[in-house]
Amino acid sequence: MNKKQRIAIDMDEVMADTIEKFIQLYKREHNFNASLEDMRGKEFRDILPAELYNTTRKYVNEPGFFRDLPVMPDSQRVVKELHEKYDVFIVSAAMEFRNSLIDTYDWLAEHFPFIAWQHIIFCGLKIVKVDIFIDDRTRNFVDFDGRALLYSSPHNLLINDYERVDNWLQVADKLL
Ligand SMILES: [Mg+2]
Repeated sequence: MNKKQRIAIDMDEVMADTIEKFIQLYKREHNFNASLEDMRGKEFRDILPAELYNTTRKYVNEPGFFRDLPVMPDSQRVVKELHEKYDVFIVSAAMEFRNSLIDTYDWLAEHFPFIAWQHIIFCGLKIVKVDIFIDDRTRNFVDFDGRALLYSSPHNLLINDYERVDNWLQVADKLL
């Protein structure tokens, strides 16, 4: 029997809706209404008033920030189905934020309990040997020679160099 193909899946802005958390947080804490239209091709902090520009870094470094991120629509069902057909790995550059490690681990255990610990890769640079890689950051594809699927997020909408998926239903169409 053939070996299953390996898929690496990123978390932030792919499985977890970090942008939606920011939108709600800045509405509540700063009375700032972020629009997705203004975000095209930009990072969230780029659309903030100058005095708030550095505040996103403070929030992502706080314990708890990554614990209650909204789950991306349809991701639980599609990742579960992928998990049955492929060798699925969750690959997150969690080392960037010290306090994210436990939050991210617990978030995965709550929302994706079928992913075993051996299939969770918390790392710095994403140097992985897989066949398919789903991520929203093109920097993670630079040294990758498999099939890269760029998961749409406001910051990458102006990039045309990769096969793109806008949502999990499109991931299902392509891979299931
Ligand atoms: Mg990401």
